[in-house]
Amino acid sequence: MKRFPYIEKEGLVESYSYGGYAYYQTSKYELKHIGDKPLVGMVLRKKFDYALVKLAIDAGCDFKQGNRVNRVQIKNGIVKIKLGNNEDITSTVVVGADGVNSVVAKETGLRQKGFKIGVCVLQELRLNEKNDQ
Ligand SMILES: Cc1cc2nc3c(=O)[nH]c(=O)nc-3n(C[C@H](O)[C@H](O)[C@H](O)COP(=O)(O)OP(=O)(O)OC[C@H]3O[C@@H](n4cnc5c(N)ncnc54)[C@H](O)[C@@H]3O)c2cc1C
Repeated sequence: MKRFPYIEKEGLVESYSYGGYAYYQTSKYELKHIGDKPLVGMVLRKKFDYALVKLAIDAGCDFKQGNRVNRVQIKNGIVKIKLGNNEDITSTVVVGADGVNSVVAKETGLRQKGFKIGVCVLQELRLNEKNDQ
């Protein structure tokens, strides 16, 4: 938060969590921490992402959307990016922020061979006042 002060300034944190509780059913281990300082800040991605795009545009970025990056080639310190609509972009810098299946990471060799993707099951549970301790 200190490093990215605009996150709080723009009101992008929906709620703070002061701790957490983990219980491992097989080993019966419990991990509990409740502190007096916020540990985690929760954001809503729709609102958060939109605000980041707006901040980037205000800072002078040219925002392009609706086109996937298909190819990335780095040669002699110059990056050539080919978009889905065949448009080419040339730059000295590329930031790969394209997620877990990053095309940028694959194209530039940042993704190591043998990389495996795990499967995760997610369930969100609503807690009530009685059992939210
Ligand atoms: C079901 C689920 C629940 C999760 N819950 C939580 C949670 O509660 N709390 C938490 O902290 N984290 C959670 N995560 C993890 C969190 O979503 C990721 O860690 C985070 O989104 C990663 O951010 P990112 O910016 O690297 O990638 P992403 O958020 O995946 O963003 C990548 C962006 O790049 C774009 N993109 C992809 N490929 C291309 C391309 N070729 N060209 C152009 N654009 C491209 C995508 O459209 C997307 O907009 C969850 C993940 C999943 C799958």
